[in-house]
Amino acid sequence: MQSGKYKKSEKYFEISQKYIPGGVNSPVRAARAVHRDPVFIKSASGSKIFDVDGNEYIDYVCSWGPAILGHAHPYVLKKVKKAIKKGLSFGAPTKKEYILAEMINEAMPVMEQVRLVNSGTEATMSAIRLARGYTNRDLILKFTGCYHGHSDGLLVKAGSGVLTEAISSSGGVPDDYAKNTIVAEFNDIDSVNALFEKYHGKIAAVIVEPVAANMGVILPDKGFLEFLREITRKNSALLIFDEVITGFRLAKGGACEYFGIEPDLITLGKIVGGGMPLAAYGGKKEIMSYISPLGDVYQAGTLSGNPVATAAGIATLEVLFENPDIYKRIDENTKLLADGIENIMNTKEKRVHINRIGSLMSVFFTSQDVKSYKDVLTCDLDKYAGYYSFLRENGIYIAPSQFEAVFVSDAHSIEDIKNTLSIIAGFGGK
Ligand SMILES: *Cc1c(COP(=O)(O)O)cnc(C)c1O
Repeated sequence: MQSGKYKKSEKYFEISQKYIPGGVNSPVRAARAVHRDPVFIKSASGSKIFDVDGNEYIDYVCSWGPAILGHAHPYVLKKVKKAIKKGLSFGAPTKKEYILAEMINEAMPVMEQVRLVNSGTEATMSAIRLARGYTNRDLILKFTGCYHGHSDGLLVKAGSGVLTEAISSSGGVPDDYAKNTIVAEFNDIDSVNALFEKYHGKIAAVIVEPVAANMGVILPDKGFLEFLREITRKNSALLIFDEVITGFRLAKGGACEYFGIEPDLITLGKIVGGGMPLAAYGGKKEIMSYISPLGDVYQAGTLSGNPVATAAGIATLEVLFENPDIYKRIDENTKLLADGIENIMNTKEKRVHINRIGSLMSVFFTSQDVKSYKDVLTCDLDKYAGYYSFLRENGIYIAPSQFEAVFVSDAHSIEDIKNTLSIIAGFGGK
């Protein structure tokens, strides 16, 4: 490591730690899992991100997903600037709110009605409240390793027995809250069947990331999502697709379009806000009419549907809708990256396992297939930490955790991918 390379970042981190817990406003940014300090960002443009010390990186975090068009896309910036001039927040309805809702409905027809909120956490929390209000049941079934934001009832892990209620996985979450969540294993049909049998007539909803992307990227086995659709229908429970990452990334219509499955409720975030704090949940009108002011399931927000955030969201979706070739391009470029890494890392022995779908992928430092959370736990986290550091020192910015995805944007050129591979080749030789 060059000395002084991160001089300003180090100084800013020291001051931040004095006033902000751990120096960061979201834990993974702290880079503790890879035994490093974070770099502080000054700006970003296209596929590149620049730190406060003047170091430049090809960015594969993309703000954890929103930047599908690349950073500071000119059209999105233009629309945001125009919106800002008219005022930052009104707390009253605006035209842009129905325009964005209409666009979401066009992409995902099952979202007949849409509520705009400010974060993915709020979207999933509200969708779950709605599912409980609609079904008049309490239990929510989630999967180990799937992340749905940080609301109390979702910060849970499986209890000691396979069929026991969940226990809280965070301080400050009473086990009494966790008790209303039950936990199954991703891609494990038997674990879901067993819970539906034991808690017959009590499960309000199954919530799932249709492609798990918060334990690294794990694809659903063939038939798994279809099975979830069937068993929820049979038991009059709702199926919630948490498409905060997959929405507008796998396809215009997200995972439901990609896999041809119609869930009851969908949650969106990240891309839908175009880099601003905006998220959404929605579904059939019949279900959404349970939300206040029409129904008695309460949900509100001072800044919900914010005029600047909706401008960023609408502009981003406009670019995606008008250029459907983007999906083909990012799929091809990500394939180029994945195949290249495979060729570099796995020539002599199998050192990594790569999962990829469209522009989402993970390089797992394990030699075995990765289909569930317990497979991810076989990864060599120290090797990942070494990989992270090597790449960062050489101008490639990836997530500071094995349990996250690689995001490729439409601003990543073939040249970016080739440059990335030639850096990784230097690591591969080690
Ligand atoms: C990021 C994420 C969330 C939480 O969204 P925030 O905006 O960070 O609150 C929820 N679900 C999934 C699948 C996510 O990836």
